[in-house]
Amino acid sequence: MVDRSKVSKVANFDPNEPYLVFRGKVSDMHTVTSGRTTRLEATFSDDTGSLLLVWFQGIKWIRESVRAGVTYHVMGRPNEFGYGYQLVHPDIEEAFPADAPSSHPFLPVYHTSEKAKNKGLGTRGMARLTDNLLRTFTQTLPETLPQYLLAKYQFMSRTQALRNMHYPPSMEVWCEALRREKFEELFYHQLDYQYSRTSRLYHSVGRVFGVVGQLFNDFYSQKLPFPLTGAQKRVIKEIRENMRSGRQMNRLLQGDVGSGKTLVALMTILLALDNGCQACLMAPTEILATQHFANFQKMLDGLPIRVELLVGSLKASQKRKIKQQLAAGEIDILIGTHALIEPNVVFRQLGYVVIDEQHRFGVEQRAKLWSKSTIPPHVLVMTATPIPRTLAMTLYADLDCSVIDELPPGRQPIQTSFGTDAHRALLFDFMRKQIAQGRQVYVVYPLINESESLDLKDLMDGYESISRSFPMPQYQLSIVHGQMAPEAKAYEMDRFKRGETQIMVSTTVIEVGVDVPNATVMVIENAERFGLSQLHQLRGRVGRGGGQSYCILMTKDDLSKTSKQRIQTMCSTTDGFAIAEADLKLRGPGDLQGLQQSGMLEMKVADIVADEPLVCAARDEVKQILELDPDLSLPDHRPLLQYIQCHNAHPQWDNIS
Ligand code: ADP
Ligand code: MG
Repeated sequence: MVDRSKVSKVANFDPNEPYLVFRGKVSDMHTVTSGRTTRLEATFSDDTGSLLLVWFQGIKWIRESVRAGVTYHVMGRPNEFGYGYQLVHPDIEEAFPADAPSSHPFLPVYHTSEKAKNKGLGTRGMARLTDNLLRTFTQTLPETLPQYLLAKYQFMSRTQALRNMHYPPSMEVWCEALRREKFEELFYHQLDYQYSRTSRLYHSVGRVFGVVGQLFNDFYSQKLPFPLTGAQKRVIKEIRENMRSGRQMNRLLQGDVGSGKTLVALMTILLALDNGCQACLMAPTEILATQHFANFQKMLDGLPIRVELLVGSLKASQKRKIKQQLAAGEIDILIGTHALIEPNVVFRQLGYVVIDEQHRFGVEQRAKLWSKSTIPPHVLVMTATPIPRTLAMTLYADLDCSVIDELPPGRQPIQTSFGTDAHRALLFDFMRKQIAQGRQVYVVYPLINESESLDLKDLMDGYESISRSFPMPQYQLSIVHGQMAPEAKAYEMDRFKRGETQIMVSTTVIEVGVDVPNATVMVIENAERFGLSQLHQLRGRVGRGGGQSYCILMTKDDLSKTSKQRIQTMCSTTDGFAIAEADLKLRGPGDLQGLQQSGMLEMKVADIVADEPLVCAARDEVKQILELDPDLSLPDHRPLLQYIQCHNAHPQWDNIS
C-alpha cells in the first residue's frame, strides 16, 4: 500500500524505501537505440530536481499517453545510475490537483511478475482490475459473519472490509478492515476443525472401555517401577474417562521431553487390553520403535501379554508370521513404524492407537489407520516437544488435549553452555572426566538432508578427530547415521545402551525419544544449524538418570542474530513450553520443524503469533456457537452452515486429526 498523500522529493528521497511516490512533470521524451534494443527515456522533474525515466517495453503506448505539461504521480523505486537516479518502468498516473480533497490517498501495491507487468498487469493494472471487481461485486457479496459478532467486535461489514483492504481512506480504516479479515479467516479455520470434532462427538460411536481390569491393576500394584507423578495420574484419568464415555477419543498428549509419556501410553494400552481389544504403538523411527518394544517387554514381563515388533527391516517370513498372528488376535500389542499402516496389516480387534512423537507422521498416514477397524479406535497422539499455545489451538482445534506439566522427581536441571573450536581441548578434557566417572557422552552432528555428502563428511571428520583423542582400547566409540543399515544402527545403539561404548557419535537419528539414562553429556556440533525445538529435543536425551547432566552447544565463531538468540534461549531455560514459545516467535509459524508440510498454517492474512488475541477470540466464539447450536441450524448461523456444506476439503481425515 502506498500513501499518495506522502509525496517524496527528487532531491532528498529515502533510497531504502521500496516504493516511492513523486509528483511532477515529464519532458524530453526520446528513444535510444543501442544494439538491437530500443528504450524510451524521459526526464521527470519536480521542484527540487530531476531523474531519468526508462521503459524497455510498451514504448508506443507510453509515448502516446504521457503528455508534456501534465502533472503526474510517478511511482517506483529509483536506483542509482551514473551521477543520478533512474526509475525503470515506473507506475505512472495523472495526479489529482494538489489542493483537491482526494478520496483515495492510498494506492494499493500488488506484487506481480515481470511477465504480468509486460501485459499491463503491473501494480496499476491490478489496481484497475480490483477496483472494477469491487465495484461490480460488492453489492452482491453476502455477509459471512453473524451480525451479533459484527456488533460485539465492532467489525465493519464484509463489503466495507474488502473495499477498505484495497482502497482505504486512512491507515486506521485499513487496520480495521484487516482486523476483520483476520478474524474471519481464523474463525472459519476454527469452525472447520471444531465442527468436525463436534459432529464426531455427536454422531460417531466409540468403543466403551468400561472396566479397569486385571492387567491394569496387576501392572499398577506389581510392576510399576516408580510412583506416577501427579500429572501422569491426572492424564491417565482423563484418557480413561474419555475411553469409557462411548465417544471415540482423539487426544493430543503434550508433555516436555522426559516427562514420562511412554508410561502413560503403556498404562492406557493396558486399559484397552482389559476391555478385549488390541492396541498398537507407532513411532517415527525404527530405533525408537525397537526401544519401545524392549521397554514394553521389560515392563510387562510376567504378565500374560504378547507384544510384537513390526518394522521394515524384519525378514519377510517374520513379517508374514506376525501379520497372521495379529489377524488371529494372538498378538495384544503391536509396536512399529510406518509399516503398521500398510493395508495388509490387519488386526482382529484394534481398539486403541498411540502415535508417538507425531510431528513426523503426516495426517494422511494417520488417516490410513482409521480403516483398520469397523468401530474407530481411540487415538492418542503424543508430541515430541511441547507446542506453543496458539499453534496447538490452530493445528489441533479438533483434538482434546492433555498436558503433563510436571517432570518425575529428582531430576536436576541440565546445565547448558556453549563454545567454539577454541574450546575444543577443554571440551575433550571435560568428556574424559565424565567418562572416568562411568558416564557416557553423545556427540551429535546436523544432517539436514541425509543425502548431503557434505554433512556426512562433517560427521566422519568429527568421528576421526574424536577417535584420535579418545583412542582404543581405553575408549570405545559408537557411530550411527541414517545411511547405515537398520541392523547396524540397532547394533551400535545397543552397545551404547549396554555401556560397552562411552561415546556415541551420531546424526539426529537419536533426536527423538532415545533413552539411555547413564548418558550425562550431550555435545551438539554446528548447533547454530538446529532449530530450537530440535536442540531441546536433543538435550532431552541426557538428564534422565538423576545424575547432573550437561549440554554443550558448539558453534562457529560468527553467529547471526537469531542463532545467538537461539543459543541464549537454550542456555537460559530448560522449560520446553517456554522454548516452544520462543521458537515460534523467532521463526514464525510457517517454519516450525515438521509442521510446514501440514499445510494447515497457511493463513492468508492472519498471523497466529502476532494475532494471538484474535486466535483466542475466534476459538472461543466458535466453541460457544457449537455448544449452543451444534447443527448450525439457527438463522444467524446460516452462512456458517453453508460454508461447512460446500467446504469439505479433508473428508476422510476429519475423524483423525
Ligand atoms: P518422554 O515423555 O520424553 O517420552 P519417557 O517416557 O521416555 O519421556 O520417560 C523419561 C524417563 O523418565 C524414562 O527413563 C522413564 O522411565 C522415567 N519416568 C517416567 N515416569 C516416571 C516417574 N513417574 N517417576 C520416575 N521416573 C519416571
Ligand atoms: Mg518419548
